[in-house]
Amino acid sequence: MIPNTGSYHFANARVHRSLTSGFDAPFDGDGFALADISVADSKISSIGAHAASKVPAGAIDLGGRIVLPCFVDCHTHIDKGHIWPRKPNPDGTFMGALNATGADRVARWSAEDLAKRMDFSLRSAYAHGTRALRTHIDSVAPQEEISWPVFEAMREAWRGRIELQGACLLGIEGVRDRKWFDRLAKRVAAAKGVLGVVTYMVPDLEELLDHVFAQAIKHGLDLDFHADETDDVAAISLKKIAEAALWNGFEGKILVGHCCSLARQPDLEVLDTLDKVAKAGLVIVSLPMCNLYLQDRRSDGTTPRWRGVTLLHEMKARDIAVAVASDNTRDPFYAYGDLDMLEVYRMATRILHFDHPVADWPQSVATTPAKVMRLDGFGTLAAGGDADFVLFKGRSWTELLSRPESDRIVVRGGRAIDRQLPDYAELDELMVAS
Ligand SMILES: [Zn+2]
Repeated sequence: MIPNTGSYHFANARVHRSLTSGFDAPFDGDGFALADISVADSKISSIGAHAASKVPAGAIDLGGRIVLPCFVDCHTHIDKGHIWPRKPNPDGTFMGALNATGADRVARWSAEDLAKRMDFSLRSAYAHGTRALRTHIDSVAPQEEISWPVFEAMREAWRGRIELQGACLLGIEGVRDRKWFDRLAKRVAAAKGVLGVVTYMVPDLEELLDHVFAQAIKHGLDLDFHADETDDVAAISLKKIAEAALWNGFEGKILVGHCCSLARQPDLEVLDTLDKVAKAGLVIVSLPMCNLYLQDRRSDGTTPRWRGVTLLHEMKARDIAVAVASDNTRDPFYAYGDLDMLEVYRMATRILHFDHPVADWPQSVATTPAKVMRLDGFGTLAAGGDADFVLFKGRSWTELLSRPESDRIVVRGGRAIDRQLPDYAELDELMVAS
């Protein structure tokens, strides 16, 4: 369908208002408009309103099919990915996930093991239409010495296909060992990475956060937190991060993931936190699939009663930038998943009600994560921009989000890519249970 010349014209493509720039047309109530798109030399040379019932000579008629920019996945763990067959979560709980993954890391995460699983994950993400991806990297000693060089090599190998970013990952208590943490921050800076920690309520949280911010400022690093991945109402580390950002006068970008407990807290507490999050300019990423899996997991045979996700609607109402992302794939934190951002958006629509109206929620898998990852031009369709987009069968939200769209066409640099997914059997040799 897509000529391999890299130069062609589409007529009758359905584009979304929130994912185009410099394009004006009569958008319908779902935010869609019909457009004609010209592609030349790996770029989009023009996007114009489609004249009703007219297909220009030589143009490919898309028949109103949806075209979205390639996805941006801002929160993943491809170092953990796909270990499930050799290390499943014994009971589906968060602690079960933490312990199982920790044991697997100590026993099995050689450079070779990591590289094979990371490459497998990236091939899946690429085939599904993802163009940029941030992964957290378990950096508890001595793993950081093994994983960061693998990450750097992987980023080089994937340059031009997936823009790969890395953020270190360790519990906030790890910051108490200042000498070690400062060395890690230096290592992350050398790798042009992002400084990340997991926050929860420890007595010295404020002091430790101050040190994290000080190191980020010293090395000019952006920050990325896992915060309050629990239903415990006493977990208010999101607020503590916002306060630390304000009193440290931090000017870099801060992404905060999960924030589950916020959805369980009293209104006054929520309002106070959201005021501070907005003021500090934090960007929040929700991980709906992983939250649904781990949160409200019950050991007494009863049914979960809440969805696990944070308050994205309340955040958006205050102009706090919000994203959704994949998080874990086939590891003890989430038994499923394939880094398919269409699946993430479909699940987010159902779990978080990204509908009635759809409004600009589609930005949560494209434009918004691109901004926090400092990727100019990613996540939007624009004249002069890269011809990196996904062509779907669906012509409306209900068509797009009802089927897996496994026959979607991914176009990179104007050309359709080979969308063959890697075979699970490739990983069998790594999966012998220990
Ligand atoms: Zn995560």
